[in-house]
Amino acid sequence: MEIFNYQRAADPQVATQLIRSHAHASDLQSAAQYIAGGTNMTDYMTLEVLRPKWLIDINHLSDARLKQIEHTDRGIRFGALVKMSEAEDDPIVQSQYPLIRDTLVTAASRQIRNMATLGGNILQRTRCEYFRETSWPCNKRNPNSGCSALAGINRQHAILGVSNHCIATYAGDFAQALIALDATIEIIGGANGARHIPFANLHTLPGTTPHIENSLQPGELITFINVPAGPWMRRACYIKVRDRRSYQFAITSAAVALHMENNVVHDCRIALGGVATIPWRAQAAEKILKGKVLDERSATLAADAAFENAITGEYNAFKVPIGKQTIVRALLEVQRIKI
Ligand SMILES: Cc1cc2nc3c(=O)[nH]c(=O)nc-3n(C[C@H](O)[C@H](O)[C@H](O)COP(=O)(O)OP(=O)(O)OC[C@H]3O[C@@H](n4cnc5c(N)ncnc54)[C@H](O)[C@@H]3O)c2cc1C
Ligand code: SF4
Repeated sequence: MEIFNYQRAADPQVATQLIRSHAHASDLQSAAQYIAGGTNMTDYMTLEVLRPKWLIDINHLSDARLKQIEHTDRGIRFGALVKMSEAEDDPIVQSQYPLIRDTLVTAASRQIRNMATLGGNILQRTRCEYFRETSWPCNKRNPNSGCSALAGINRQHAILGVSNHCIATYAGDFAQALIALDATIEIIGGANGARHIPFANLHTLPGTTPHIENSLQPGELITFINVPAGPWMRRACYIKVRDRRSYQFAITSAAVALHMENNVVHDCRIALGGVATIPWRAQAAEKILKGKVLDERSATLAADAAFENAITGEYNAFKVPIGKQTIVRALLEVQRIKI
């Protein structure tokens, strides 16, 4: 690990100013970075994938709401510094937001979730082995150096949202609940001040610039995550398929939330993990189900549509059938939920 400077910030606005003042003009992203739970940041610093000159610790910011969960009739608002384990233990999350609960409890280990924050979780970096090992060419780590995964061992890699420059999978689970449930995030510290954006606009497709992973400007800090309430909230679940049952990232996953009456789907939200380069909303699948009776046949048609545009590599074509089965399983499981 390279030597770095550490500074603890007390005020959210000051934190954003610190990042900007410590940023080197030509290297804004690596010169100074926030650290929250540190479970992702220190991992990648140890591997020397990330080499920030400055770490700005945001754990002691004075705004208490950043560590709180607020419930209203309109939905739920998480402070970005809420720990994953605090969110999963919240009684309202447990009873009213099963999809959020499921994505949290199936992530990492309880020890990691005790440290990790919600804001840090959604910005975690990919687990692509070639990104993590600095001796390999990697466009995400070192722009225009090439992508070792394209012709390499790409069993874990993405099949949706990929480009000729990067096929790295977005690794997180919580983000699948957020994108399925139309969450929004609050951000401060940008050139134009505070802003509020759909969560779906946060992560960016790799395209020709895989080193740019999100739409945050240098110094911007995520402060809150809002999830609106809706009639689909209770009839929801997250199915995560992985190589071992716990403490493992997804091979495929499906986050499903439905609003149904008499077995007819009125509203439908499906997000996929483990198969895409960003948190992935399966809109083609949703379209097929809306207004239809939910049964194995319609669920299978929806799953087929979700993977219609999949682009597979030498070792990851197996994700297509498993991904489809994961969607069908999640839809039929949700159908059985008694409200
Ligand atoms: C062995 C292992 C297994 C794991 N398994 C899973 C899994 O199955 N599913 C899953 O979802 N995750 C998994 N994780 C990832 C883990 O959940 C993340 O490391 C964690 O959520 C990151 O949160 P953090 O607070 O520690 O972030 P940090 O490491 O502190 O930060 C992560 C990134 O977010 C930035 N950041 C943090 N907070 C903010 C903010 N408020 N605004 C702007 N930028 C911010 C930091 O600058 C950094 O770039 C695993 C991790 C490990 C080590
Ligand atoms: S898939 Fe992306 S992260 Fe992995 S080696 Fe290729 S460019 Fe790098």
